[in-house]
Amino acid sequence: MSSKPQHFDAIIAGAGIIGCSIAYHLAKRGMRVALLDAEGPAAAASGASDGAISICSKKPGIMARLAMQALHYCEKLASPGGPLSGVFNKRPSFYFSTSEAEDQALDALADQLGGLDGSVYVRADTAGHSAIPDLGSAVRRVVEVSGEAHMIGYAAVNAFLKNAALERIWPCTLTGFKASESIISIKTSRGAMTAGKLILATGVSANSLVPFLPIFSRSGQLIITDRVGSQHKLPGPLTAASYLLSKSSKNPNMGPSPIVIDPLMSGQFLIGSTRENHGTSRQTDFASATRLLSGAAKCYPPILKRRVIRIFAGVRAAVSDGLPTVGEIPGAPGVIIAAGFEGDGISLSSLVGREIASLVDNGQITPDLATLSPERFCRQAAQ
Ligand SMILES: Cc1cc2nc3c(=O)[nH]c(=O)nc-3n(C[C@H](O)[C@H](O)[C@H](O)COP(=O)(O)OP(=O)(O)OC[C@H]3O[C@@H](n4cnc5c(N)ncnc54)[C@H](O)[C@@H]3O)c2cc1C
Repeated sequence: MSSKPQHFDAIIAGAGIIGCSIAYHLAKRGMRVALLDAEGPAAAASGASDGAISICSKKPGIMARLAMQALHYCEKLASPGGPLSGVFNKRPSFYFSTSEAEDQALDALADQLGGLDGSVYVRADTAGHSAIPDLGSAVRRVVEVSGEAHMIGYAAVNAFLKNAALERIWPCTLTGFKASESIISIKTSRGAMTAGKLILATGVSANSLVPFLPIFSRSGQLIITDRVGSQHKLPGPLTAASYLLSKSSKNPNMGPSPIVIDPLMSGQFLIGSTRENHGTSRQTDFASATRLLSGAAKCYPPILKRRVIRIFAGVRAAVSDGLPTVGEIPGAPGVIIAAGFEGDGISLSSLVGREIASLVDNGQITPDLATLSPERFCRQAAQ
């Protein structure tokens, strides 16, 4: 006689930053939670990304509003004794232009931020910026923004896991599910389980479980240098205004890769990040990485004095309309998806975790997140 499958209040598939934040928030509510991952925590995008918690780079509208709410909530979680304490850091950020079109993107920034709650704002706007010596001659103008932050993805994953009482099961791949009003039957590589709710936080693999979702992969190369001497320390990340342009463009696939030179707490520079279509491959694309490095050196020549110690690729899960997909899957009661965060998942993770936990527990979710429901793609009911 076969034994009864293990039962949980909620099972989360995917131990990236989104799944771990959801797991933390559900466990805080006293639920019996299992977290599964095909490989292990932060095995995919969350372990191969920058950690800019940026408001300026968000699409105006819902994404900018959500990022602002997430920033405030992260600050709360980072207060002494909170799960993100020591992991989340506020810092100034610098956006620079190298063309007239990018000047216009910088012009629009003050207005865009002015439409939010005022806690992230343009602090200085100059040609030949005094806060950052040694900028390249290609740089026309620099805008300093106050109020943005940074949080490394894998560090946040560890912090959420350290603070949550839950069943951790990896390696364990979710291979299928069957949903009914009262219970969800789940198939995994380690056998069957049942749950009251199932949350899919599986990043780029989400559409293999829910095929009607238009999720695709967009890889990105990142470069890490050796530690920097104090004479070349940047006070905050230097981001090309082309990044702002690409976010508001109708076709964010087009154009050169926007450059970000990010001074990490470790004293190293992280230089990111390209956008390519290599499917789900995490293989290093040396040609793209070389272009990225030479572009970064043109804007900030001190890079040329550094040694590159690491190049790696991450894969973002992108959705065809440029917005994440968050909410219950039509036709599959109790099965919730949180995926497709592309370049915004670190920024939004805390808020998404809190809100999915609320959706699981009492059916409530903030109105902005409710508009990201997968219902917008629904042409056929999921199995
Ligand atoms: C180069 C690069 C730079 C970035 N920079 C930033 C940035 O500066 N700021 C920012 O906010 N965001 C940034 N991002 C985006 C951010 O990293 C992602 O949006 C975020 O990590 C997505 O987290 P996730 O938990 O949804 O997915 P992932 O981290 O991809 O996690 C998905 C997990 O699901 C597991 N899984 C998949 N299928 C299954 C299955 N069937 N069963 C069980 N487990 C499964 C995988 O093993 C994986 O661990 C960047 C991304 C990249 C690639």
